[in-house]
Amino acid sequence: MTTIATTNPATGEVEKTFDALSDEEVDRRVGRAAAAFASYRRTGFAERAGWMNAAADILDAEADQIGALLTTEMGKTLTAAKAEVRKCAKACRYYAEHAEGFMADRPADAGAVGASAAYVRYEPLGPVLAVMPWNFPLWQVIRFAAPGLMAGNVGLLKHSSNVPQTALFLEDLFLRAGFPEGAFQTLLIGSSKVEDVLRDPRVKAATLTGSEPAGRSVAAIAGDEIKPTVLELGGSDPFVVMPSADVAKAAETAAASRCLNNGQSCISAKRFIVDERVADEFERRFVEAMRAQKVGDPMDEATDIGPLATEQGREDVEELVADAVEKGATVLCGGERPDGPGWYYPPTVLSGVTDEMRMYHEEVFGPVASLFRVRGISEAIELANGTGFGLGSNAWTRDPEERERFVRELDAGAVFINGMTTSFPEIPFGGVKRSGYGRELSDYGIHEFCNVKTVWAG
Ligand code: NAP
Repeated sequence: MTTIATTNPATGEVEKTFDALSDEEVDRRVGRAAAAFASYRRTGFAERAGWMNAAADILDAEADQIGALLTTEMGKTLTAAKAEVRKCAKACRYYAEHAEGFMADRPADAGAVGASAAYVRYEPLGPVLAVMPWNFPLWQVIRFAAPGLMAGNVGLLKHSSNVPQTALFLEDLFLRAGFPEGAFQTLLIGSSKVEDVLRDPRVKAATLTGSEPAGRSVAAIAGDEIKPTVLELGGSDPFVVMPSADVAKAAETAAASRCLNNGQSCISAKRFIVDERVADEFERRFVEAMRAQKVGDPMDEATDIGPLATEQGREDVEELVADAVEKGATVLCGGERPDGPGWYYPPTVLSGVTDEMRMYHEEVFGPVASLFRVRGISEAIELANGTGFGLGSNAWTRDPEERERFVRELDAGAVFINGMTTSFPEIPFGGVKRSGYGRELSDYGIHEFCNVKTVWAG
């Protein structure tokens, strides 16, 4: 059974452990969520917006302390952690401002359906279970909770077992902001207890951000119970560079994307696919930019890359690199863990990755890049689409025809041209293929957990 504990990835030391909730306590909390929903759904948008803005104010005011907590629990740099906190505040404000408009009745063509009035009303579903990962431990939760609560749903959070203090902070945050008791609760439980919660008839839907096995399990159980789900799973995003691109900028952005969050982001570019006409220049600049990343204490402002979040996570990365090297890949930089405490792993670039290697097909959740050379755009797109994932994608070109081909032909939930895949409250986020389904953020995100109720009046 997984231990629920804060273990500092920079030292490997367990700082605090927590007991999992008993089955009776979980039952009580689910009951509280259902009871809260009955009255919470009747609150108005202005009232909810007031609470949501208050949550944003708390996040902004306490960004330093909350940031330090994130860094202690999962190792991202303090600078990145504080930026995450502020991004969450922004998302809370975004939904506080826009939810009422997104949830407004949508008129339909009454005449065409023989009605005197016809429209769509969006209604909340009830308690939604959110199974969340540790990599953006605040952001992943807020991007569900902000639209969810503004829509009138209530939330039950099962967070990763390695970020319990962040999980408890989130429950506290919404209570302090003024949301009613039971509107948002944290369940400190291991993943083996998720099934019971999901099958509870009082729980109406689930959202999961995490790995494919976790997604498959939650979706299978929810499917059996006929409950809707949103799945945000892994990615192995391509980053294509064509000859017309600003190669220097592309190489710099490539390193930033691959090293984002110590290399542990689902939308980090992981496979770098470069037209052979600019491959030498890109490789030189990219390897230089990767080498220049400063690995070290995540609390230090000068650090670019802190440790990986878990010991197992580092072993997984090492295994993928070893497998590739054994089968003939070349290490252009990095590739060896440093001595000393903490789960550090250096920025690493491999060339000569082939489809016999695990890395070709699997997501590498650490700062490791595969570099490929291709002849022209068709080969680039074929390689880019040649995995089971379809989360984000990046293409660098200044040619309008090539740009249109990338937009049309890249099999992904997002295409970023001359930039790096990022999530924003204002635009939808999600994947296709084995990266999951459903969308978060923007108006799409708020409607995922709504009953789209058709109203027809004669
Ligand atoms: P994970 O092992 O799947 O854990 C994510 C959450 O699922 C945790 O709360 C975990 O609980 C729970 N869980 C694990 N197995 C479960 C199961 N069989 N049934 C129910 N719940 C289960 O993922 P991770 O390794 O922590 O996170 C990294 C993965 O998340 C990567 O693949 C990454 O790409 C993906 N990710 C995707 C997005 C996106 O938006 N698409 C964003 C971030 C991360 P415990 O901790 O108790 O095991």
